[in-house]
Amino acid sequence: MANNGFEQPVFKIQSDEMQRLLDALRQNGYRTLGPIIKDEAIVYDEISTVGDLPRGWTDEQGPASYRLVKRNDDAYFGFNVPAQSWKKFLYPSERELFRVRRDSRVQSPSENRESSLKYAFIGVRPCELKAISIQDRVFTSTEYKDESYSGIRHGLFIVAVNCTSSGDDCFCASMKTGPMAKRHFDLSLTEVIAPSEHYFLVEHGNELGASFVRGLNATEASEAEMNVAGDLIERAGKQTRRIEIDRTPELLSARLDHPEWNVVAKKCLTCGNCTLVCPTCFCSTVEDTTDLIGSFATRRRKWDSCFTLDFAKVAGGNFRMTSRSRYRQWVTHKLSTWVEQFGTLGCVGCGRCITWCPVGIDIISEVQKITET
Ligand code: SF4
Ligand code: SF4
Repeated sequence: MANNGFEQPVFKIQSDEMQRLLDALRQNGYRTLGPIIKDEAIVYDEISTVGDLPRGWTDEQGPASYRLVKRNDDAYFGFNVPAQSWKKFLYPSERELFRVRRDSRVQSPSENRESSLKYAFIGVRPCELKAISIQDRVFTSTEYKDESYSGIRHGLFIVAVNCTSSGDDCFCASMKTGPMAKRHFDLSLTEVIAPSEHYFLVEHGNELGASFVRGLNATEASEAEMNVAGDLIERAGKQTRRIEIDRTPELLSARLDHPEWNVVAKKCLTCGNCTLVCPTCFCSTVEDTTDLIGSFATRRRKWDSCFTLDFAKVAGGNFRMTSRSRYRQWVTHKLSTWVEQFGTLGCVGCGRCITWCPVGIDIISEVQKITET
């Protein structure tokens, strides 16, 4: 039965049980990955102890603006979304596909090492869970199944963390992707720092998750504790920034000649940063290279972006020569044509493209200008 958004049963662990959870995951063969501080930003990387987490830090984000700020408590997950998304592990920026040797003419597909990987993602935000489920549709559900992605996904254990605060660029509430995780996790945590204790509420999404809860010093959460956590999550969902998703897909498709596309094109550097940080963007290219004496050739897959000049180059020319057409393609794909293609929007409201655009182009403002005027 629902209680402040929680599905029963809900357990409570003290904050120092986090180390026991990490240890249990590692003992079960998982490589634990989570948020750390690196280069003055929160990013995802390998973690082995809770000391690796950005404890006591938060981030302030805005258009073309990001900085870390010390909190006045010891929250493990007291920040918003990290600079990078989980796609760097699920869909690495570069991967060797195969090699061809001149002497044997044998084409050797690169070993599918990913099928044996066991990753545990620690601290997946609700919007990121949705992003992973969107990439699942792209890479695992179509006739063009990506074996590498599917292999990593198969061995993945997800520890979600509900949001108890929102950044200035977050708009997950309007996209219906946050601030509370409902599905697609093995475990879901809500961090609570009360005057006299620091604890997590824990939900499990399946039997595998439940087996890890049984290994922790967990008690059943009281209704009052669920109410406290539910209030924190509800407060995080009171975001001022929003996109009206019911009307946007249709309006965007109908306004391909809106003058705002020209205005934003004058600012856009076509650098592609927005697509690199976006947790759902998936475009790639292939690149062939040979060794110096030409004894073998290697084909590699690399992330690409619809903002690069060569992306739309085909026999006969380039069908997106201008920054206007490239920016318009990106936004209309995310928030309109993606629905026809994959049955879901391609944006989860994480706000990364706003924060990390070097000139502060703000997808929310642009969509509002184009759909509301
Ligand atoms: S919108 Fe911003 S991040 Fe994206 S390509 Fe243009 S300048 Fe770069
Ligand atoms: S388009 Fe921007 S806000 Fe939407 S999911 Fe991508 S990075 Fe996040």
